[in-house]
This record gives sequence, structure tokens and C-alpha cells, in this order.
Amino acid sequence: MAGKSINLSKARVLVSNDDGIHAPGLKLLEEAMAKLAREVWVVAPETEQSAASHSLTLRLPLRIRKLSKNRFAVNGTPTDCVLLGINEIMKKSPPDLVVSGVNRGGNMGEDVTYSGTVAAAMEGTLLGVPSFALSQLSTDDHPVKWATAKKWIGPVLKKLCAEPWPQGVLMNVNFPDITGGKVIGIEITRQGRRKIGSDLVRGTDPRGEPYYWIGAQRREEHYGQGTDLEALGRGAVSVTPLTMDLTHGPTLKQLKARIT
Ligand code: MN
Repeated sequence: MAGKSINLSKARVLVSNDDGIHAPGLKLLEEAMAKLAREVWVVAPETEQSAASHSLTLRLPLRIRKLSKNRFAVNGTPTDCVLLGINEIMKKSPPDLVVSGVNRGGNMGEDVTYSGTVAAAMEGTLLGVPSFALSQLSTDDHPVKWATAKKWIGPVLKKLCAEPWPQGVLMNVNFPDITGGKVIGIEITRQGRRKIGSDLVRGTDPRGEPYYWIGAQRREEHYGQGTDLEALGRGAVSVTPLTMDLTHGPTLKQLKARIT
């Protein structure tokens, strides 16, 4: 396989997220990376950017606010943060690794295309830096089990950094919504799929105007074998290698043969 493995203990790491600079998952990831790597830099959005996807800020100027040594907030999206982190804040010596998260809530299946957490890792990948997106599954009816992510970040990163993988591929990691001791292990999975769009709240605002509010994704009982959704449901940490090249090979081949 093309690509080089990463020497994690010697790595300079750029940490970002989409929940914003004050998010508990960001603090957790900073602390975990400080133990695993040589140097940790943080560049994260001033405000929450969940579901910002891979958007760039083009019509407004971006400002970098230095909070402390190696720690910065940007008034933009996760993509803006990684772009400025690599091309401006760390430009003299770019990072060896980008880690994004730990997101409050999972990023599985079609979440990947909406996610700002995954987008930060996409931007790192496009700029030639090996990148991870990290998310902790949770539901609204109980506190987020951050201790599960905390326990499993080290084992996951150590294992994957020892493996070379090609440029243009990023690692999407999800931690299951169970306590860390009950996790059954790390599984390599493919991106799953759910039916979405059923949870739309319709209401009327105080001035009598209708409004619409997009709710949670629909839960389903059965997921495809080998998918992120299925592995997480059984209590595994899921690792999905994602590619930035969205071309669908079989359709490309079929159309090339039929259309000339
Ligand atoms: Mn988020």
C-alpha cells in the first residue's frame, strides 16, 4: 500500500473540531494527544459549526485569535480552521497529523457528508496531511460517555499510525455509546446507510409565521453487515477509511462502455 506510517510519538499534531473552541470533546482530544504526540497545536472554530460540511468562508474575512501558546480560535468553519492552521499558523513547519473531534455525537453512514468533524479531516487530507475524524456516539437522553473516547483514542491512533495508507484517504473513527470497559474491540468497517429525513418538526412562531426544524435521524433496527452502524451497534470502535475521490468506479466503467 502506498503512503508512509506515522511516528506518533514524534508527531506534531493539529487538533480541530466542529463543536467549537470551548467544546469538552476538543479538550479531551488535546489532552489525549499531549500524551501520545510530541507537539499539539489547536485551531478550532469560535462557535459551533456542526453540520457545516466541507464549507469554506469566501465572502467574509477570517480572523485568527490567539488564546494561548499553540492555541487559536477562528471565526469560520472547520475547513477554514484546518486551512489556516496548515497554511498560516503552522506554515513554517506543517503538522504530521490532523485530528478532528472528539465530536459530540456519531458520524456514521450518510452523516459523513454533512459532518464538519469529518470535513476538517478532509481538508487535512487534501493538503497532504494524514487525518483522523473522531466522534463519540450519544443520544440526548443521557450524558455523553466521554470516558469511552478517552480510553480508546490511544489504542486506535497507535494501531492506525503504524499502518501506511494512501494519500487521499482519511480515517473516520466512531466510539460506541457504551462504557469503555464493555467495548468489544476495534473493527474496520465500510460506510453504512440509513433512511433519513423523517423527523421534521413543523410549528408556528410567536408572530404567526410557520417554521420547520430538522430533527434527529431515524433509527433503524438492522444495518448492513460490515458497516460502521452495525459494528457500533455491537459495541465495537468503528474505523472507516474514506476516500476523497467520490467517483463510482462500476458506473464509470459501464457508462464508458455504453456511451461514446
Ligand atoms: Mn459537531
